[in-house]
Formats: sequence, structure tokens, C-alpha cells
Amino acid sequence: MTKWFIPLVLAAILVITPTIAHSQDQITLLDSSAQIYFPSALVFKIKAQSQNDIVKLRLHYQVDRMNYAPVTNEAWPVFTPSPKVQTEWVWDMRKASLPTGATVTYWWTIEDTARDSLTTPSQIIRFDDLRYTWKKVTSGQINLLWYKGNQSFIDQLMASCQQALERLARDTGVYLKQPVSLYIYASPADLRGAMVFPQEWTGGVAFTEYGLIAIGIPTNELDWGKRALAHELGHMVTHQITYSPFGANLPFWLDEGLAMYAEGKPDPYLESVLQKAITQHNLISVRSLASPFSALPEQAYISYAESQSLIAFLIQNYGRDKMLQLLNLFKEGSTYDEALTQVYGFDQDGLDAQWQRYITSQTQSQSKVKYDYFWEKVTEKAPRNKITGEPVTANVLLGVD
Ligand SMILES: [Zn+2]
Repeated sequence: MTKWFIPLVLAAILVITPTIAHSQDQITLLDSSAQIYFPSALVFKIKAQSQNDIVKLRLHYQVDRMNYAPVTNEAWPVFTPSPKVQTEWVWDMRKASLPTGATVTYWWTIEDTARDSLTTPSQIIRFDDLRYTWKKVTSGQINLLWYKGNQSFIDQLMASCQQALERLARDTGVYLKQPVSLYIYASPADLRGAMVFPQEWTGGVAFTEYGLIAIGIPTNELDWGKRALAHELGHMVTHQITYSPFGANLPFWLDEGLAMYAEGKPDPYLESVLQKAITQHNLISVRSLASPFSALPEQAYISYAESQSLIAFLIQNYGRDKMLQLLNLFKEGSTYDEALTQVYGFDQDGLDAQWQRYITSQTQSQSKVKYDYFWEKVTEKAPRNKITGEPVTANVLLGVD
């Protein structure tokens, strides 16, 4: 059994529920607020007075994200003891950044030399990207936020999201457990402006624990945007359904394959990549695809295409319930071979063999002439550079033209 504990998170759990203020007549809160300097900082300000010197000031804050127990962080701003104090604490996002739209609940505890104390009422601040005026539309569990594009643009993106969710629910039994907010930036450049350390290739990011997705979709790239949103929602649904205190350890082909499956029909370009890999005996083993995909575009394309095909193979041949069973076993911490063997009766190598037999027999029935012609046509297109691998905490979008 492989269990992926999250010692840092668990060790940091400190459950502090805001309590009712004590001795309110002794200490008076004059002001408590938070100011956003997007994306680099969030500043918490406090102003209070007492009959005695205020000697302790502590900020408590909780970030709204998937947790098994509320995690409360503490911060101690610098100030000089005095009966009237005014200070602030700066959350420097270069050290630990928050995604667009993340909400933070915060309160203060204040103490003076007479040991009187005050706990301020909790307040909520949403870390909004204030560079733009966001519009919002909600349907079911999905919130879409955008600032450029007409109603038809956003309606089509919403329809794509809903179709992705329906497809996954129908074919795999997975569904969103919590609402998701998707921030649609008007371009990848706008999106990069929302990040403290942007990567040149970032086209979209999913913060699954926050239920937040940020993505750059130019209004003239609607088809790409529809696929990209469906893809990221696929990751979100998979991660929500397998979320566990042990940290579910999913093989990459399963995670990416389900995200690709959420997109709907395979992208013709990726399909041709897969066909070429089959005929040239260039397929990547299922065991290798369990690890992060290669950053080399050609290898990455094969990895994504194979992952989608593997999911389609499992769903078509073994059905929806087994896929859900597989995900549940991963949630419980099963190893890849254990989970596959328990559900399907074969391990990773067995899956490799079964799937290759299936896909090869399908390919042989197709016209080679037609395929070669198609391959030449698609290779005339400039290679897409949006796949370069995924950082640990975020999913980078697969670029689909
Ligand atoms: Zn992905």
C-alpha cells in the first residue's frame, strides 16, 4: 500500500475557532480591513485601543480550500506597545501565493498589559484580480467569470463545461462535489499578469483544492477554449472525487486521460499522432505513463493521446462502474497494480497488452493510404507548444488548436 501522507499540512493543523470577544469594554477595535495588491500581496490592517498598553496582536487566517480540518495560520505584525496601536501584516505572495478568486477568512486577537483580550469578529476577503471588471454567470456548480467577450462567447463556454460534466457523469460516474469558479482571461498574457512567477507557456491553471481555474481564452479561439475548459474541469472532477487525507496518488495516464475524455471527441491531430505511434511501434508503456509525461512535445502528444485512448478502452470494454471503483481504490491509497488487478483482473503490464491488442486491431482495419495522407496534412501545421509538463501544484493545459 502506498499512502501519500501530507505531513506538512497535517502537522500545521491547528484548530482555532473564533471565540466571542472578552472584556470588550477594555479593548476597542477601531478598524480591521484587508487590502489587495494583486497578484503580489494581501495586506491586513488593524487599529485598536485600550486603557493599557496593547502588547500582543495576532492575525489568524484560514484559506478556503479542501481540507479535512480547518487549518488556521497565524501571523504576528511588528508594532510598538502602546494604548493605541495601528499596524499591518503583509502576506507576500512571492513566498506562498493565492490564486485569483481565493477567499480568506481572518480575525485578530489583541491583548493588553492587564491581560484583557479581544477577539475580533471574523471577516472574509476574496483575492480578486482587480485589474479587470469581472462579469459572472452561474449554472449548477459552475461559475464562469469573464471580462471580454459577448454573451454568445460565454454561453458556448458554459455549454462546453456542462457537456463535459454530463459526459463524465454518464461514462465514469464522477461528478463535482463542490462548486468551481472559472476565471476566463482574455489572453494568455493577461493570465500571466495574474501570476507572481508566470511561465512563458502558461495557458491555464487549475487550483483543484481551491475549486478555481484560471485560463486565457482569446475571443477568437473559442473552439480551443471550449476544449481547454472541459479538460481542466475533468481534472477538477477527478481530483475532487479522489480527494483524501492521504493524498490520492493517481497514475498520470488516468488523470490526463479522464481530462481528455471530458473534452469529448479526440482531437484529430492527437488521433493522428497516436496512429503514427502505433504503426511505427513507438507507443509508450502504461507503466511509463504513470509518471509525469515527457516535456518533449512529440513524446507529450503521444502520452496524451494514449491516455485518452486508454480511458476510452476501459470505459467501452468494462463499463462505468469499474472506472468509479478504480478511482475509489486510488482514493484509499492502493498502488497502481493492486487497484487495476482488483478491478479489472490485470495489472499495468496486463492493461498495456490488452489495450495494444485492441488498438492495433482497430488500426489495421483502417486504410493506410488514407492515414498517410492525413498525417502529411496535419504535420504541415506548426507544432503546438503549449505542452511542456505540469508543475506539482497546478495542471497546465494541453494546448489544442
Ligand atoms: Zn491535463
